[in-house]
Amino acid sequence: MSVSVVLFTADLRLHDNPVLHAAVREAEQVVPLFVYDDGVRAAGFDAPNRRAFLADCLADLDAGLRARGGRLVVRSGDAVAQACAVVAATGAHQLHVAGGPSRYAVRREAALRDALAGAGCALTVHDAVVTALAPGAVTPAGADHYAVFTPYFRRWTEAGVREAVPLPRRVRVPEVGSEPLRPRTEVTGTSPGLAGGGETRGRERLRAWLASGLDGYAQGHDDLAADTTSRLSPFLHFGALSAAELVHLARREDSPGAEAFVRQLAWRDFHHQVLAARPGAADADYRARGDRWRHDENEVEAWRAGRTGYPVVDAAMRQLAHEGWMHNRGRMLAASFLTKTLYADWRLGARHFLDLLVDGDIANNQLNWQWMAGTGNDTRPNRILNPVNQGKRLDPRGTYVRRWVPELAGVADRFVHEPWKLPAADRAATGYPPPLVELGEGRARFERARGG
Ligand code: FAD
Repeated sequence: MSVSVVLFTADLRLHDNPVLHAAVREAEQVVPLFVYDDGVRAAGFDAPNRRAFLADCLADLDAGLRARGGRLVVRSGDAVAQACAVVAATGAHQLHVAGGPSRYAVRREAALRDALAGAGCALTVHDAVVTALAPGAVTPAGADHYAVFTPYFRRWTEAGVREAVPLPRRVRVPEVGSEPLRPRTEVTGTSPGLAGGGETRGRERLRAWLASGLDGYAQGHDDLAADTTSRLSPFLHFGALSAAELVHLARREDSPGAEAFVRQLAWRDFHHQVLAARPGAADADYRARGDRWRHDENEVEAWRAGRTGYPVVDAAMRQLAHEGWMHNRGRMLAASFLTKTLYADWRLGARHFLDLLVDGDIANNQLNWQWMAGTGNDTRPNRILNPVNQGKRLDPRGTYVRRWVPELAGVADRFVHEPWKLPAADRAATGYPPPLVELGEGRARFERARGG
């Protein structure tokens, strides 16, 4: 009986999963394997919000496999050692895994290749599983990746995204030992408003989004209060939804909303191809600008706690703490404030985001942080977002601010983004802090340092 192993990583789904599809097609029996990887925990990437979402994804994946006659085989420890142990126990001749852009994924792939070669088991790494287009699938002449989004997007659009593969009807799993799944209820320290995960939930959300959200996306995606973006990012991060399938489903709609949404998915691919080519950008400046970041722990802590005195920044940071998720515009404002107004190192902000974001992702998080800090792929690295003007533009009635900053719930619209302009007694009554720094002072710090 031929046996293949599927090592699930960032592809926790049954629909449009080329890794699982290939294994089921080629072998009579398949081991769908997930390893609670010590290396991921050691890297500090195993934050509670993502651990909880992962628990949902794995439970759902196991249920889906059981409905097809199979089950998820679970191990813990070193992913490579555990994969090899399963190969040895089942006599598997092939192991399939999705390619990933991070240093960690690349090292794991190399270690698997070495270890399996000695065991007589072939390794197949599948591209375009985590992303719609594989990193490196399109490159500019003479370079290994695109550093600017617009030309990348042009080539990305021309290249075309692979077709979705069919859902396996049956998965036959050989006798092999498994540990129990770790239930979500055992995870502590999660954000109180954290959403649930799993492919089934992701597909429900996707259906609802395609039916009633996509159409208005082009006009509404920057509206902080309306909160009308897809919120599919955690499902994409864990691979509970396929980016390639999303591109095809959105394109069927042929509307400005669909176009704008597909463009965002291309942004996701863009950052993945940058990280795949420059894995060091996870913690080193992509384009160093000689920054000598200023470290004032009280300022950084006020930022983390949502007490900077700038309402839209604080609202965003409190949304992050409460939900483990933040609106894209909130992320931009919070990141710009930390790096260009407080002039603190982007790595501190990226770390805090990774501690909380349920969609926290090395490619998207680190490279968006670098974008905002001006050390990344932004062609205008010295731009600074003004939280007052941006607040007035993106949250004109202050609805988003009032939702997350209850101290300002009763403040009139005209003061909600500038509570320091309230009469002194009213201002004191709110209990809301005064601005941590003047915006002019923040800009001066940045310009002094950058010579911008
Ligand atoms: P939608 O607006 O519905 O977009 C659809 C999908 O497109 C998203 O789910 C996401 O996969 C992708 N996408 C959208 N915007 C971007 C973008 N700027 N870069 C890359 N992909 C994008 N996204 C993450 O998935 N993980 C992160 O850790 C992360 N950290 C970020 C940190 C900062 C400082 C900034 C500015 C942005 C970050 N983003 C991150 C990108 C973006 O904010 C989120 O993907 C988006 O807010 C998720 O909400 P949504 O699913 O409703 O997005």
